[in-house]
Amino acid sequence: MSESHSEAESAVVQFKAAILAKLRYAVGKDPSTAFDHDWFEALALATRDHMIDRWEESSAQIERQGAKRVYYLSLEFLIGRLLVDNLSNLGLLDVARQAMAELGVELERIREVEPDAALGNGGLGRLAACFMESMATLRLAAHGYGIRYEHGLFRQAIVDGWQAEQTETWLDFGNPWEFERPEVAYRIGFGGGVETLDDGTGGTRQHWHPQERVRAIAYDTPVVGWRGASVNTLRLWRARAEENLQLDRFNAGDHFGAVAGEVRAESISRVLYPADDTEAGQELRLRQEYFLVSASLQDLLERHLRLHDGLQCLPQQVAIQLNDTHPAIAVVELMRLLVDEHRMSWAQAWQLTVSTTSYTNHTLLPEALESWPVALMERLLPRHLQIIYLINAEHIDALRAKDIHDFRLLRAVSLIEEDHGRRVRMGNLAFLGAHSINGVSALHTRLMRDTVFRDLHRLYPDRVNNKTNGVTFRRWLFQVNPGLTHLLVDALGEQVLHRPEDHLQALEPFAERQDFRDEYALCRQRNKELLAERVRHVLGISIDTTAIFDVHVKRIHEYKRQLLNLLHTVALYQAIRNDPTTDWVPRVKIFAGKAAASYRQAKLIIKLANDISRTINGDPTVRGLLKVVFIPNYNVSLAETIIPAADLSEQISTAGLEASGTSNMKFALNGALTIGTLDGANVEMCEQVGEDHMFIFGMTAQQVAARRRLGLEMSDVVADSERLEAALGAIRGGVFSPDDPARYVGLVDSLLYEDHFMVCADFDAYWKAQRQVDQRWQRPEQWWRSAVLNTARMGWFSSDRTITEYARDIWQVPLPRREGD
Ligand SMILES: *Cc1c(COP(=O)(O)O)cnc(C)c1O
Repeated sequence: MSESHSEAESAVVQFKAAILAKLRYAVGKDPSTAFDHDWFEALALATRDHMIDRWEESSAQIERQGAKRVYYLSLEFLIGRLLVDNLSNLGLLDVARQAMAELGVELERIREVEPDAALGNGGLGRLAACFMESMATLRLAAHGYGIRYEHGLFRQAIVDGWQAEQTETWLDFGNPWEFERPEVAYRIGFGGGVETLDDGTGGTRQHWHPQERVRAIAYDTPVVGWRGASVNTLRLWRARAEENLQLDRFNAGDHFGAVAGEVRAESISRVLYPADDTEAGQELRLRQEYFLVSASLQDLLERHLRLHDGLQCLPQQVAIQLNDTHPAIAVVELMRLLVDEHRMSWAQAWQLTVSTTSYTNHTLLPEALESWPVALMERLLPRHLQIIYLINAEHIDALRAKDIHDFRLLRAVSLIEEDHGRRVRMGNLAFLGAHSINGVSALHTRLMRDTVFRDLHRLYPDRVNNKTNGVTFRRWLFQVNPGLTHLLVDALGEQVLHRPEDHLQALEPFAERQDFRDEYALCRQRNKELLAERVRHVLGISIDTTAIFDVHVKRIHEYKRQLLNLLHTVALYQAIRNDPTTDWVPRVKIFAGKAAASYRQAKLIIKLANDISRTINGDPTVRGLLKVVFIPNYNVSLAETIIPAADLSEQISTAGLEASGTSNMKFALNGALTIGTLDGANVEMCEQVGEDHMFIFGMTAQQVAARRRLGLEMSDVVADSERLEAALGAIRGGVFSPDDPARYVGLVDSLLYEDHFMVCADFDAYWKAQRQVDQRWQRPEQWWRSAVLNTARMGWFSSDRTITEYARDIWQVPLPRREGD
């Protein structure tokens, strides 16, 4: 037996013993009585043990080196499952699989038991999770701060074709990855009033007396980088009441009143707001935002003061990144802490605040731009409103001092919106309080400069910059697609695992090799069979795995244009029925995604997808050439099975509206060809991958803007397109909803007369691009050559590249050397 062989053997023996010990002493079971969940917990705890020493080492090293720390504040972290992520990054996946097998338990079954940590809605939350992993891999001294929602994003059930929301209960069986830190607790105030006090030197100072106080308790989850590079902390806050039970009220017989305060306080971390790209706008949401921000800032200032002399050096030691405007109240809270609590001068506090804070913008959609009624802010955070007024007054005075008196401009850049009831504009607040404002793709950043922040950008031209999003290849390639990963390692060597962003491009010559393309295609075929198995299991529908898997999965939103795809689906259905002798290329249309519970049009789109699916799948004249499935409950785990099985990736948002997109990157990395508009990061993907290896169609952002100025009425466009007219007519006439023929009249009419998202205007171009897809599919050597080139050319979209840019340009932290440097 070779030495390394016996080393591997002994690692398995040790891990097996560790799992058995956890099962017995932490879970309290033995192998004969253990359920799958008990095995999961034992395995997770044994895995977690492997992270602890590195965790300690990482934080000791950061302290020793006095490294600058990055604090990533986000209301959302869409994490998904962690078992395979952690095992894989620790290099223990094979050891664990073998150890479990020897215990008679299949790892592939046990991994399915772990609930998804769905503390986010979609792309924004998933970005935060990818960033945490990349920052650990790059050995940045980074801390994530978020809220430990008891209930994450709702579980979606499809009942009679409609979305039904069910409560997500990911913590029911506990969470083996986290450590509760009851000793790390901060008081968070709400309401009350502000008192002016003598500051003892002849001046005055403000003192806030909150009427209500809540405690924030820390829960820490270790985040391990690739091959244990370093282990960082994701710290999530849970809200607890100051006093759990008002005993006097309880003893007086008021059993509900005795716990009312507790219920009110704890509601802050009870549930994630399930809105994506629409404003939540409720008081509880503002309470959540302030709760996260206050706890995190108190925590990071305490750490800073423990390690350094005074606050003057804050910008040299601390970078605070705001993930969207959700934590933008941080600008004000940091001012309050510095001025009111630490007695710093206003001018100095402002200088420190701006130089430590930076803000990422994620959307230009007006309905998603946060603003809070002044009256609400005054009631909930009276001292903060005062500070906002002061910041605003200084800001406007500074402009007047520069001889800027244009009334329109002053109104536009003010922190207070005066037109629709007075409101605090969180975007402007984040802009003013940050030294860096970044967009998430080149196009989005350009539009940000031209639209939402046009005036502020002119006043502060050095602040806006671009950081195109990325995804972590560890999860979105290695873990989700072990077959392809194996193939890549065979072709390119182990180095592709350590630096995929550098080494993937060496795959290009393999695109010319028939034998390699065959293996690549075979690997896809296996992934498609796994997905088909899942679809059969969940929906009872069997799908043809030799057909094109045409995939549209993401949040359901009008701007993402699931409707455009559904219109194509209907038009294709009609074409097949009208022309049964043509050898149509077989397709499976795969949809998944959640709609915000309050977004009626999005929920109707889900119903339409299901109505179309039922009708087409049940029509024998289609002869299986077209199948449509809507897979319920899209989440990270479902994305992980769908993405590696996709042949075609639908990225068809109205140009100018998708800030970046990240699923576009996950798909292309796994070799799906993209059909898409020149929107978000699609533009840069097109530059990297090459236009010949994508199917780009439709209006550009500029053309959309010009078309909008002509009006949203589309009757002439529809009259010019027989196919579109027929598809709309069928939906409107109830072909897919015989039980309620008028169900889609309003929806179709809105496309005809008020087509905000240019569905009709882009339809013909989309249809043509889809026929090019068919043609490419019929030439397999071309299709698979393009697919391999997609994988080879996606290296730039690694979130390691994105984080490297943030570190260099925004946070100004040097990256430590990595192994292999
Ligand atoms: C990547 C990802 C998203 C973002 O998808 P887009 O298509 O870029 O909007 C949303 N949800 C999940 C579960 C994801 O993994």
